[in-house]
Amino acid sequence: MSRYTGPVCRLCRREGMKLYLKGDRCYSDRCAITKRNYAPGQHGQSRKKVTEYGLQLREKQKVRRFYGINESQMAKYFHIADRMHGITGENLLKILELRLDNVVYRMGLASSRAEARQLVTHGHFLVNGKKADIPSLITSVGDVIQVKAKSKNSAKIKELVENHNGTNVPWLNIDLDQLKGTIVAEPTREDIDIPVEEHLIVELYSK
Ligand code: SF4
Repeated sequence: MSRYTGPVCRLCRREGMKLYLKGDRCYSDRCAITKRNYAPGQHGQSRKKVTEYGLQLREKQKVRRFYGINESQMAKYFHIADRMHGITGENLLKILELRLDNVVYRMGLASSRAEARQLVTHGHFLVNGKKADIPSLITSVGDVIQVKAKSKNSAKIKELVENHNGTNVPWLNIDLDQLKGTIVAEPTREDIDIPVEEHLIVELYSK
């Protein structure tokens, strides 16, 4: 199943919340949620009774859209999370947080996860000194994610560093001078600022 490539602000309007998919625009008054906070389409403003299934589905879609992943990847991550020790919903979010594209986003080197994904696929990063151009790579505690020496002088990377807003992610130690991040712990649920009720996703997949 392919990745969604249509207008992303529609996704936020569909979920009724900011998913922060467009970088700086999301923090400006040009944000579609600020201007039109109702679902897109002809019946977007009509009120409908939401079923239990509908609620579960919306939570799953929110998570998929936050992290920019497709259905089959989501199902695969759920399967892994379900086999891990601990709370399945939290495990699922933890796996998603540790994806390489998300780590780059959390390092503050991209204004959105989509931009982080592009930087990774363009080969700007190393993980533990080795080239890593797969955004879905799941990193682990102890991994060092670093901008490749050759890329440090690229105009794009310089611009991103200049615009770096600073991030505070307890599980990630960021060294902006070296353009490097070290994963020092596994993310906990409190560390993950995604406003979803992940237990509803577990219920959906457990049917
Ligand atoms: Fe969502 Fe950002 Fe578009 Fe606002 S600007 S609707 S937060 S993608």
